[in-house]
Amino acid sequence: MTRAGIELNGVRYRWPSRPVVVVCIDGGDPAYFDRGVRDGVVPNVARFMKTGFAAVADGDVPSFTCPNNMSITTGSPPAVHGISGNFYLNRETGEAVVMTGPELLRSHTIMAEFSRHGATVAAITAKDKLRRQLGKAMDLAGGSVNFSSECAEQCTLEEHGIENVLEFVGMPLPDIYSPELSLFVLEAGIRLLERRRLDLLYLSLTDYIQHKYAPGEPEADRYYQNMDAMFGRLDALGAAVALTADHGMNDKSNPDGSPKVIWLQDILDTRFGKGACTVVCPITDRFVAHHGALGGFVRVYCRASLDPADVMKVARAIPGVEAVCDRATAAERFELPFDREGDVVVIGRADTSIGASEKDHDLSGLRGHRLRTHGGISEAKVPFVLNRPLRAEYAARAAAGPLRSYQIFDFAINGVE
Ligand SMILES: [Zn+2]
Repeated sequence: MTRAGIELNGVRYRWPSRPVVVVCIDGGDPAYFDRGVRDGVVPNVARFMKTGFAAVADGDVPSFTCPNNMSITTGSPPAVHGISGNFYLNRETGEAVVMTGPELLRSHTIMAEFSRHGATVAAITAKDKLRRQLGKAMDLAGGSVNFSSECAEQCTLEEHGIENVLEFVGMPLPDIYSPELSLFVLEAGIRLLERRRLDLLYLSLTDYIQHKYAPGEPEADRYYQNMDAMFGRLDALGAAVALTADHGMNDKSNPDGSPKVIWLQDILDTRFGKGACTVVCPITDRFVAHHGALGGFVRVYCRASLDPADVMKVARAIPGVEAVCDRATAAERFELPFDREGDVVVIGRADTSIGASEKDHDLSGLRGHRLRTHGGISEAKVPFVLNRPLRAEYAARAAAGPLRSYQIFDFAINGVE
């Protein structure tokens, strides 16, 4: 029996004829695959690239985790799904509002739609903050599962569709700051594929290693080697395997190893007075040890007395700034939800991060590591790799470009034989 498939945000997804696995390698800058292929660290990925399909695609700006996970899983840009960072500023209350919960998500996900049409789906994440957003509106009654490795020991059939996860996966509960947090997600996906009939899996990892280690460093190589072996196992189970990332990663440090930061709130306070505007760093969440809440993209919200054009003039003159946009231009250029956008968007160059006020950022968690982070235009390039060749129509679409990372479910479900 051929089932009808689903339609979401203008894209038709056929019913998967084999299990489809999309892996979001958090912080998986294309440079890691390039280096890994060259050094023989990722033989399975190298094989996929040769016999399947490989390209570098455009992710969304801001190149942060939540917006891009939601773009990938809804097949649409943030203007449609509504998630443009971890935070935005409520203009009426002046409060920063967390955007990582399911409440502000304006679209169903592809996983939710398939689960509601009777497919068996898994959405597994490393950090629990993403889990509820990815699982929004998923129907778990038919065997679908939604959990995080962070909270794997708390899973119940009712809320997560699975219990006794540590036993099922055969790994101890991983530390939040460890490569195992991601490897646990992949192992869970493999075991689900081995033991249950699944149609669709979304496995979203964490970028702990990429924040700390550059391509080619032994710790990065070890992580990529471990991931690659698991990609090989997914492939051997007959799945269509698609690999992408939410964002890339760049070193934003001075030659002496200290973080290279523009303290934008301090600069604007000096120029316009305290309280005239608020700089929001949308990378901020509970887990900032590895980046100190410093990214390459910030939003400035201006009080009525301050003209955004004056802020833009000051921001443009700061060395290390790549782009400055007003609210409407940012929303249009980067396909972001206008109602949640700041009055001014400031984006750093590849080698520069932007923070708010120096006193509000805790950089002690870096503990001598160079600052590696993301958020800007320069971290929006991501890998787009499939383990099977594309059908002619999709090969033509990829060649015509631009290829967007949020097309990966479309390509993995509809685009391969
Ligand atoms: Zn990320």
